[in-house]
Amino acid sequence: MQDTANAALPPAPRTARPQVLIVGAGFGGLSAARSLARAAVDVVVIDRRNFHLFQPLLYQVATAGLNPSDVAWPVRSILRRQANARVLLGEVDGVDAARKEVQLKDGRRLRYDWLILATGATHNYFGNDHWAPIAPGLKRVDDATLIRRRILLAFEHAENSEDPEERRRLMTFAIIGAGPTGVELAGAIAELAKKALAADFRAIDPRAARIVLIEGAPRVLGAFAPELSEYARQALTRMGVEVWLGRQVTECDARGLSASGERLEAATILWAAGVAASPAAQWLGAAADRSGRVQVQADLSVAQHDDVFVIGDTALVQQDGKPIPGVAPAAKQAGAYVAAVIRGALAGKPRPAPFRYRHMGNLATIGRNLAVIDFGWLHLRGFLAWLLWGVAHIYFLIGVRYRLLVALQWLFEYFSFSRGARLIVGSDPATEQRTP
Ligand SMILES: Cc1cc2nc3c(=O)[nH]c(=O)nc-3n(C[C@H](O)[C@H](O)[C@H](O)COP(=O)(O)OP(=O)(O)OC[C@H]3O[C@@H](n4cnc5c(N)ncnc54)[C@H](O)[C@@H]3O)c2cc1C
Repeated sequence: MQDTANAALPPAPRTARPQVLIVGAGFGGLSAARSLARAAVDVVVIDRRNFHLFQPLLYQVATAGLNPSDVAWPVRSILRRQANARVLLGEVDGVDAARKEVQLKDGRRLRYDWLILATGATHNYFGNDHWAPIAPGLKRVDDATLIRRRILLAFEHAENSEDPEERRRLMTFAIIGAGPTGVELAGAIAELAKKALAADFRAIDPRAARIVLIEGAPRVLGAFAPELSEYARQALTRMGVEVWLGRQVTECDARGLSASGERLEAATILWAAGVAASPAAQWLGAAADRSGRVQVQADLSVAQHDDVFVIGDTALVQQDGKPIPGVAPAAKQAGAYVAAVIRGALAGKPRPAPFRYRHMGNLATIGRNLAVIDFGWLHLRGFLAWLLWGVAHIYFLIGVRYRLLVALQWLFEYFSFSRGARLIVGSDPATEQRTP
């Protein structure tokens, strides 16, 4: 780590080569870094955590299917073989575009010739931030282990309780928001309760757990074709999930929630309803939309700052009259595009054609043998979609070892109906309870 006394000094001995500073080692940042492997630049990747997280499988950590280390890899080892790349641990909290420096929370300042901001997104409680401790969202590894802790503890406390009403409350799980994450969480909790835990308790029957998925819109998976939404709703219902559509959650408290006038007593409430961009727009003083996404130009640079790019979930990219979705392929494609812009500029070429996102399709899994895929021109559902979903996710994991590990774990769980990662660990800020 740098000594803060060295503030304003570059992080490494400066070479004559331009320095590309990438903030965020998520899908966008890593894609940009890798695409600059052969460029005559020094790449510095800075992230506030030392690992890259594969968010699409985070719900499996939250529901005890996978361990955190199955879906997260050290950034340092990912970029180990890239000679022009350096990895730094640190949290950025400002950009001084006039001096071409970023500011870090610990007081350091890092110089750049080109800056790529790829700092992702966080939860959006739409003005109800006090709900956050009650209804955690799923973005970080810590969120996933907290959710896993709450789900498993709810069953443990129910087993200990003598009061039938309290048992019912403890065994009620509410998920707010029925996009892919909400649907995946609801399906996975249903499978956990009705299969993996079914025979493990004596005083309670985990199969009696009540799982309620609440959505303000009239259908689940709003980004998918209506027939796939309906298929997912029916599949969830068959799995024992209650799907409440067209209902707005108006209150969340320690004992439950209210949605469109109806009260639901639930010990575990999960938030999968809203996304807000990282504060990059504030750092830059740039125009942003209501979710805080930076309005970027056609080449993903920021107005008046040709040398600053914003990509991935932090950027608002309009295409064909609507914003491109906040998904991993969009962030990866943007990272590769910006790297090409920088390579072109170094070679003295004019800026390339505007960035254009190629949409591969929407995927969501509902449960065992159940998924939906919307390619636009082709709609898949059921077992085939589930198989494709699994293969796609394994393929996109980093490294052969992880692909093999996750594939074997899934295979085992598929045949045994078990969930191996049922550990209650960590602490819960809402209750201040620590694991003994
Ligand atoms: C639960 C969940 C499930 C998802 N499922 C899918 C899916 O199935 N398919 C799909 O395509 N997409 C999915 N997504 C969306 C996808 O993960 C995002 O679109 C993608 O991660 C965006 O990439 P990014 O590079 O913009 O940000 P991220 O991948 O989020 O990376 C941002 C990085 O920036 C770092 N960072 C943030 N702030 C700072 C700071 N101030 N200083 C230093 N570092 C910082 C973070 O630590 C992080 O490493 C899912 C997202 C979630 C949360």
